[in-house]
Amino acid sequence: MATMRVARYNYRDQFGEDPTPLIEQVREMLLAGRYILTGEVDAFESDFAAFLGVKHARGVNSGTDALTIALRACGVTHGAEVITQANTFHATVAAIRLCGARPVLVDAEELSFSLDARQLAGAITPRTRAVIPVHLYGQPAPMGAILAQVRDGRIAVIEDAAQAVGARIDGRPVGSLGAAACFSFHPSKNLAAAGDGGAVATNDEDLDRQVRLLRELGQDGQNHHVAVGLNSKLDAIQAAVLRYKLPSLAQWNARRRGVAAAYRERLADLPLRFQRVEPAEEHVYHLFQVRTDRRDDLLRHVRAAGVDAVVRYPTPIHLQPAFADLGWRKGDFPVAERLAAELLCLPIRPDLTRDEIDYVADCVRGFFRGR
Ligand SMILES: *Cc1c(COP(=O)(O)O)cnc(C)c1O
Repeated sequence: MATMRVARYNYRDQFGEDPTPLIEQVREMLLAGRYILTGEVDAFESDFAAFLGVKHARGVNSGTDALTIALRACGVTHGAEVITQANTFHATVAAIRLCGARPVLVDAEELSFSLDARQLAGAITPRTRAVIPVHLYGQPAPMGAILAQVRDGRIAVIEDAAQAVGARIDGRPVGSLGAAACFSFHPSKNLAAAGDGGAVATNDEDLDRQVRLLRELGQDGQNHHVAVGLNSKLDAIQAAVLRYKLPSLAQWNARRRGVAAAYRERLADLPLRFQRVEPAEEHVYHLFQVRTDRRDDLLRHVRAAGVDAVVRYPTPIHLQPAFADLGWRKGDFPVAERLAAELLCLPIRPDLTRDEIDYVADCVRGFFRGR
């Protein structure tokens, strides 16, 4: 079998046949000084809100800032506790700490890799102010079960939808299901800016007002600051890039699902497991994970063959040095630890070709056949 390089990203493809209109627009913006909270940002925010079926979406500097601002807007501050899952990206938990609050972890559910809703009741205390389910790898978290466990009106459910823009549960987009939702437009994500970017979505007027205040240093009018906020606005040029790409997103997500279905079919007879998806859930496959206790050997094998496979994430939150002061120990969240040891991401992009899918599948098959 001839060696092929199978990349994880293809940015050129995201700009379509002819990116000239976007490049012209960016040129004009650069020369005219249209940089901060311009009409381009308003236009993207309203298109993005319409895409999600929410009343408001506000562009901020990153997904991490979206989480920090959403938590602050929901009143999370020093002394509060915020519950999330042990198997998430660092930013989810960093944002909790950046608000001065204490992260409380629950374990993942073994088959779906989502936050295990059955563990929520045991983690809620009188100090709990928010719960952050993560729509991990593009798979919607079980929002019905989670919302059913969080009945106390003082606890906000904030969706970390950084990996799941466009995913749906029962036809309803993620990002419209909790008090607020946070998105990332980091270049690795399904909707990619040309740099950092993020957004907070909500249906709640008051929360939206807080988000707008907090992204602009707490300012409610020129030189009048009513809160200590962040300085975190989506760049106007990034808004133009995102608005140019947004109309393609649904089709890109559908193609990602097609790639995932092809992988699942081609790898079905191997000793591998896949993330479980319920019929009501529409996954958008930010990442395609295979699970095996021979993960590290499989990773070496496919990388040597030119396949850009990676591990997301090799160390669960509770074992990260940044959180050592919280006193978590190995063994505290056994499912998250197993997933960290056994998951491997195969390359997935909307434009992955049949040949590339076949090549990746053949490499994985070759590993298990000892070739
Ligand atoms: C990417 C990501 C973030 C953070 O987004 P940035 O834009 O990189 O700051 C937060 N949560 C999850 C689950 C992510 O994947």
